[in-house]
Amino acid sequence: MSAVTLTRAGLVGLIRVDSPPVNAISQAVRQGLWDAFQTIADDPQIAVAVLVCVGRTFMAGADASELGKPPVPPHLNDLVLFIEKCSKPVVAAIHGQALGGGLEIALACSHRIATAQARFGLPEVNLGFVPGAGGTQRLPRLIGIEPALEMAVEGKPKSAQQARDIGLIDTIVEDLEADAVAFATTLVGVDPTPFKLNRPISPDSFDAGVFNQWRAMCAKRKRGLDAPLAVIDAVQAATGSDFHAGLEAERAMSLNLRKSPQSTALRHIFFAERATYKVKDLDLLQAKDISSVAVIGAGTMGAGIAQVFATQGIPVTLVEISDKAAQAGLDRIRTNLEQAVDRGKLDTARAEKILQRVTPTTEYQALATVDLVIEAAVEDMAIKKQIFARLDQVCHPGAILATNTSYLDINEIASATSRPDRVAGLHFFSPAHIMKLVEIIRTDVTDPAIVATLASVMKKLGKIGVIAGVCHGFIGNRMYQAYQREAGLLMLECGSPQPVDAALRQFGMAMGPFQVLDLSGIDIGYLMRKALPKGAVDPHAFHVHDRLVELGRKGRKTQAGFYRYDGDSPTLDDAVLTLVREIAQQAGIKQRALSTEEITDRCMRALQEEGQAILNEGIAEKPGDIDVVFVNGYGFPRFKGGPMHHKSD
Ligand code: NAD
Repeated sequence: MSAVTLTRAGLVGLIRVDSPPVNAISQAVRQGLWDAFQTIADDPQIAVAVLVCVGRTFMAGADASELGKPPVPPHLNDLVLFIEKCSKPVVAAIHGQALGGGLEIALACSHRIATAQARFGLPEVNLGFVPGAGGTQRLPRLIGIEPALEMAVEGKPKSAQQARDIGLIDTIVEDLEADAVAFATTLVGVDPTPFKLNRPISPDSFDAGVFNQWRAMCAKRKRGLDAPLAVIDAVQAATGSDFHAGLEAERAMSLNLRKSPQSTALRHIFFAERATYKVKDLDLLQAKDISSVAVIGAGTMGAGIAQVFATQGIPVTLVEISDKAAQAGLDRIRTNLEQAVDRGKLDTARAEKILQRVTPTTEYQALATVDLVIEAAVEDMAIKKQIFARLDQVCHPGAILATNTSYLDINEIASATSRPDRVAGLHFFSPAHIMKLVEIIRTDVTDPAIVATLASVMKKLGKIGVIAGVCHGFIGNRMYQAYQREAGLLMLECGSPQPVDAALRQFGMAMGPFQVLDLSGIDIGYLMRKALPKGAVDPHAFHVHDRLVELGRKGRKTQAGFYRYDGDSPTLDDAVLTLVREIAQQAGIKQRALSTEEITDRCMRALQEEGQAILNEGIAEKPGDIDVVFVNGYGFPRFKGGPMHHKSD
């Protein structure tokens, strides 16, 4: 069957694209559209055209299988120009998603209508390049410079209502094809020229300073990323007098950036995030529904986890050791929700509904009927085993028992129950209601069907689940430990935490390693290391850390850690530099200046070696899974693709 067909309804030529699953703009679709528009142009019986797609969406974008291969004509940019040249009105009738190339095709049409659920966007920037078929040229002509910058620089889609409000579509309809034909019929005999988006942009219609304002924003919020800046350049090129020069400038930037290491890295992580469930023994078809959840412990993590489920409409029983602690947990959720309301992300009525789905209790008996329990009590093996033994008694035999432990051996936790095959880890990251990453830990005996259920639930919650095996710290914390170990040694060598933090920030990490420790509390690692067997920790790398904790310098919460926090901004402290020097001397480490490259290379090598060990031991199945964890959980720059993808220059 042909990907594109043309039929006639009176004077309306109806072009239907039917290329499952998402009507990607493959060569067959491009050629089919070209031929259909040729017929529209040639056939005097056709006065107006409708372009509509069959299936679940309008053309959702490029055909991913063609990415990286030599392009085959007709090229999208030529097709878009060809459609734009049509002397008859053309109505794009949109449902599902009109993203990237799909939106660029819609912009070549003289009119656009859509269903209420349709979404519109130029997401190319998220993959490190610039739209290449006129998106940055036609969009500002249609909706104005600022809204176009917002759409193309942020890469976030707009709803149909938003699209109508900014003039991106003409109207919202219910019965797409029938309403499109009716709408097109009203355009018979209308000259489409004034609706075309190739006219000059009047210099009076925008503030020329807007481009530099957006550049300044990118310098702060999109540090190190090339594509957002190129998008701004491309939109600015649309303000020149020559439409075709703008198109050419955009296309040159697009082709150039597609080959860039940043785009390669961003595409790698994009696909890696979609492939985390492609691991052996995981079959999502085995997943069962979860209709009620309990969370044990309503502290930082427990409250956040409860909120995540309640937000998705799943009732949550929140168990604590006292009424006061349970109430404190509920208050934590209320505060989070109020913040979301203040930021306009939620309305008060919905926030109240979410809160009502959480039932605090101190009674384990309340868990008799829940399908899934997530334990998020303190990080202590004895306490966790007690809790799991209790859960095993009160929960029905089909219930899944999961732990949010950061480091502990889940095989051992599971041994406290009579159903170790129904025990797993769900390692949420903090703050759990914001961070998308969750490590799903299978023990030596977890039933694959349980893993499938957990994976499916995480997907429904909008989380990025990564499957891992049991080891100290699983994928992420184990890797981070190796990174922190190298950072600790580097600090001893160069005499200060500052050059190490500065180098890794410059590399693109959201924060330097010592800045992170000061923020999260140096005492957490201190307590974790104390619980490890002798010899498991490098004798030098964390010595300064441990001394700081023993001196009461736990980080920001005590106004002092690796840095001091008693002024407007963090400052280096002589006391820390002296401590570093003394400990380096004791360890026989000679101090010397370290280059930025040496610092970052050594930290990356430490990560890659630990990552390789994790792969060799089968804790993670693919390098991409490790990258997904590090990019989404530890502030690793997405545009470098993750530690396993990154190659030092
Ligand atoms: P927290 O100290 O903030 O909260 C723990 C809560 O558990 C407390 O409110 C405590 O009263 C309650 N609790 C203790 N024993 C209990 C019991 N027997 N029954 C019910 N409730 C009990 O701790 P947290 O930071 O939320 O960490 C919880 C777990 O999550 C730990 O295992 C931790 O390692 C893990 N974790 C923490 C983070 C983080 O960044 N904080 C991230 C990932 C995982």
